[in-house]
Amino acid sequence: MSSVKLENLQKHYATFQALKDINLSIDKGEFIVMVGPSGCGKSTLLKTIAGLETVTSGTLSIGGRDVTHEEPGDRGIAMVFQSYALYPHMTVAENMGFGLRMAKRPQAEIDAAVKRAAEILRITEQLDKRPKQLSGGQRQRVAIGRAITRSPEVFLFDEPLSNLDAALRTQMRVELSTLHARLGSTMIYVTHDQVEAMTMATRIVVLNKGEIEQVGSPLELYNNPKNLFVAGFLGAPRMNFFEGRVASITDAGVTCAIDGLPPVTVEVWDPSTISVNDAITLGIRPEKLVVGGTSSVSFPARIGLIEHLGRETVLHADASPLKTSGSDTGTQNITVQVPQIVPFSSNATVSLGFDIADAYLFGPDGRTMTARKPLQTV
Ligand code: ATP
Repeated sequence: MSSVKLENLQKHYATFQALKDINLSIDKGEFIVMVGPSGCGKSTLLKTIAGLETVTSGTLSIGGRDVTHEEPGDRGIAMVFQSYALYPHMTVAENMGFGLRMAKRPQAEIDAAVKRAAEILRITEQLDKRPKQLSGGQRQRVAIGRAITRSPEVFLFDEPLSNLDAALRTQMRVELSTLHARLGSTMIYVTHDQVEAMTMATRIVVLNKGEIEQVGSPLELYNNPKNLFVAGFLGAPRMNFFEGRVASITDAGVTCAIDGLPPVTVEVWDPSTISVNDAITLGIRPEKLVVGGTSSVSFPARIGLIEHLGRETVLHADASPLKTSGSDTGTQNITVQVPQIVPFSSNATVSLGFDIADAYLFGPDGRTMTARKPLQTV
């Protein structure tokens, strides 16, 4: 039985449709991370599950029970917000026990639950303090502790780490994954942060304009994005996209004519869905581009901006007349990720190359046409 099931869920705000026909089954114990661009409906979907927003139509079940019209407090969920939402006049212990006190649980039960949650989160020494005496990371632990004490069926997290600095975010990410493994609870987590999504999720849900684009494990989505949107959304730096047309279709695959590249022939699932002269996009991840070497496809590029990140280097290069889409670096339209420090200098002209097996082909409607790629560590 699914722990959380969303069926044909729709949400309208007056004439604007924020959620469109959402169908999703979440198993007990999963860690689901919802990602998508700003305004795609992530928070609306989370608030709908929490009962903080009503649905226009559709059904929501938690633990096999239809909770579509139940009050938030009756749904067996606990939510952790980005803003922590702690009561400033209460101690840490009082904040953590608040939900149980509201539910009129006996004091001994509240004390035991607070003690256990504080031990799990290593904030036992902070129990008598007030929120303003705590660091950001400690405050977020209290907010998580308040959720734990309620022993919910489902934890909902709305960007809980985005107010923390980078180092603390990394630490809390590991702590949340550890907490999930320890409690075995179902967790649904909204974030803008790709690293959080890739590292914590058992499955990622990619949303776009109120619709689910694709659901799958992080590596499944990274290696086998269903369409241009998912391919471009997951991965930083993002996938390079080269625009061209279909030159010919043979048993060997689709041969693409792309200005600035030699003819590229790519194997596809179903050649019957594409025709000669159709617009196509060829995608290649920055880490699959090689500087120099003997790749099956190569082309000249002039190096522009160089970002030295220590363990890797990101090169932004100009490869005109190669036409790219979605580039946000002006004429430096190609991004290359090199897993070491490199001795290149700006303005050097180099040969960039890739293997055709690493390329993705997207049809005129944006759907991925290339055969599935084997899962690999990223
Ligand atoms: P962000 O990443 O910026 O937080 P999001 O993906 O969480 O964005 P939502 O907050 O779910 O996006 O909003 C989805 C859409 O619904 C947006 O276009 C937003 O303007 C709209 N929306 C959200 N709440 C309301 C509301 N109360 N009334 C009208 N429109 C709303």
